Amino acid sequence: MPVVPDISRRGFLKTVGAGTMTGTLTGLMTQQARAATGNSSGKSPQRICVVMFDGFGTDYYENSSMPTLKSWEKNGFYKRIQGVMPAVTNTNMAGICCGVHADEHGITGNSYWDADKDQELFMSDSGLLTAATMFQKAGRFGIRSMIVAAKQKTIPLMRQGTALAIGSQEPPAEIVERYGKAPEIYSPDVNYWVWKVAIDLIKTQPKVGLFFVHTTDYPMHKFASESVESRVHLKTIDQFLAEAADADPDMAFIIAPDHGLNSKSTVLNLNKTLARKEIDIKIAMSAERDQYPKHHGGFGGTAFVYLKSPNDTDRVIRALRDVEGIEEILTREEAAKKYKLNPYRIGDLWVTAVKDVVFGHSKEEREKLAPDYRSHGSAHELDIPGFIYRYAGKLPHESEITTNVDLCKFLYRS
Ligand SMILES: [Zn+2]
Repeated sequence: MPVVPDISRRGFLKTVGAGTMTGTLTGLMTQQARAATGNSSGKSPQRICVVMFDGFGTDYYENSSMPTLKSWEKNGFYKRIQGVMPAVTNTNMAGICCGVHADEHGITGNSYWDADKDQELFMSDSGLLTAATMFQKAGRFGIRSMIVAAKQKTIPLMRQGTALAIGSQEPPAEIVERYGKAPEIYSPDVNYWVWKVAIDLIKTQPKVGLFFVHTTDYPMHKFASESVESRVHLKTIDQFLAEAADADPDMAFIIAPDHGLNSKSTVLNLNKTLARKEIDIKIAMSAERDQYPKHHGGFGGTAFVYLKSPNDTDRVIRALRDVEGIEEILTREEAAKKYKLNPYRIGDLWVTAVKDVVFGHSKEEREKLAPDYRSHGSAHELDIPGFIYRYAGKLPHESEITTNVDLCKFLYRS
């Protein structure tokens, strides 16, 4: 395996910018060029920018004026594809970055129940990731990667194998010096900052061959696809995409959304539903709960139900069966098989909601949500558009790209 020279994260911009590593890095890139892209010219491998467009459901694309993406649709690969369940960011991000499903990468939600600590924990630790990321695979070809993300939670989960991973909420000092402080995370502006940084790095770090740009879906939680605010946000992002494509006319772009969103009318607390029916469980929790409560209050369309005893399975299923708002109840084994999930990282039972209902720790068993409340997590938020633009290598057949997991899995194969 080729060895990637070690450069400290702090000094990376200066080091690569000053060209002190150029000889070695160029050597590695040239040496690995053919294997990485399949071209036989002996040139450096094509640079790639993967955009995880958080919350960019198909309706957002169709209801917005996005001339850049429209032209990429026409001149590149475009397909209406599906995200994976649960329709939350971490599961889909790990799928996009590893090119496998959660039965292999292990990230089955934004949160899970940690039996050891006896509490709900965020799935944001790379120690939980059980598959190699494209950053690690690219490294085997001597290709350096960078992440620029609005959500800081992406960084600990995905930074392994990258040369530099920048989260807007805790960016390295040299990034703040160069680009200024990021706007607050609960704003569309943070996405513009992310793109400004990414475009400049595309221009100034030619030795970085793989970029991963992760925007936040806060604007989609706030604004429906047909609203003026959403159109302004997406038109602006579209202009950044044009600028990024111009920053390196040879770079390939892969647009990989994680999930869509829907308006939700009701939150249902399954802990209280079961308590009312005098059934004792360990916990029912939303798979969507993450570090960004202002997005969704921790509520989402998939719940993990952990039982006190496996003997309770039938009783709990029976008790949930007639509950309004529930769409599907599966056992751990059934859910793992149907949705390709690691069975040990979901509840004893897997419960999904109808389109306008979410699960979570609400005060009352059933509460009405604000009229503008929007969220995701259920099987109704899987429709997303996938784009691959200017990729110089051979793409898989169109029929082989059906989910966002397929959008990057052909990259960096040896
Ligand atoms: Zn979200």
